[in-house]
Amino acid sequence: MTVYDRTDTGIAAGIDAAYHAGFVAMMEQNFGPYPFGADLRVLVAPTYWAGFEHPGNIVIDDSLKKVQIGSAYASPLAHTLDHEIAHQWAGDQTTIADTYDFVWKESMAEYLAFVYEASVDPAIGLKTADAWKQFSVGAQYFPVPGEKPALFDYYGDVYGPGPMILFRQIEVLSSRANVITALQSVLGTPRALSVDEVVAALETSTGLDLGAYAAAWIHGTGAPVFPQVDVAVAVDATSVHVVQIVAPERRCKFHLALRGAQPTDELLVAVDTFTGGIDQTLAITPAFAVTNVVVDPLRECLMTAHAITAAPTNTPHRNPWLAPQ
Ligand SMILES: [Zn+2]
Repeated sequence: MTVYDRTDTGIAAGIDAAYHAGFVAMMEQNFGPYPFGADLRVLVAPTYWAGFEHPGNIVIDDSLKKVQIGSAYASPLAHTLDHEIAHQWAGDQTTIADTYDFVWKESMAEYLAFVYEASVDPAIGLKTADAWKQFSVGAQYFPVPGEKPALFDYYGDVYGPGPMILFRQIEVLSSRANVITALQSVLGTPRALSVDEVVAALETSTGLDLGAYAAAWIHGTGAPVFPQVDVAVAVDATSVHVVQIVAPERRCKFHLALRGAQPTDELLVAVDTFTGGIDQTLAITPAFAVTNVVVDPLRECLMTAHAITAAPTNTPHRNPWLAPQ
């Protein structure tokens, strides 16, 4: 199976067929043969969404090539096409059981594109995880919204929180291999799949009890509040005190980066509030004078530093999956 594109428009749009063939190979290796025959056709055109995953026939917005600068993704065109290719297995062959299971298919498409990007260049993967955190700011609904709004009212809120909560945060708590094992257990056959079944598969592969996690992060009503921490390095620099002061019920694992005056001055400190609680004092031995602390430099959790003076924002929360123009 090869990625086929409408040669003139596809090449003009900047599609790198070899790069995407590598992604297809990763998908087939993990989840079985491409489900829709010999060809995967890609139509490049002016579209409402950045991309759409009709089985065997992907539509990609023709303006994506032009938005390299300013996009949250390293390469919006390459990322979007991988996302839609992932949907051939996750969303098309295996479909959602209910409208409010929408989040799993978008989260898997995002996460699987991220896994490939990270394997090609960790910096590209990190940029995608950073995009997810950016998209999460201002989300008005939980991934599985208890108020059951119309799909068009809430679906734009899943693209950032969804992959972070369902897969990125879980791989940090366990491992990427265990998350892929969970996905292998639910993809690869024509069937309907629910979010709860995805969570159960993750529990099986990771051995984690995700009951409280799912209740806190996935299900809820109203706008979700994501956690914030206060961080204080002791005066003698032998310890760092971390307190999760916002949304204490939403636990995860992340790092702090303690930094100094030189570019090479960095000490990563792991913080695990999932198992270690929301108030921790961690021993540190920095070999430099700490001048700055960055919360979550590796984009492992929807966790931010406590905003002491939160700037008022009137920026509307934009649906990240609408076409750029
Ligand atoms: Zn999608």
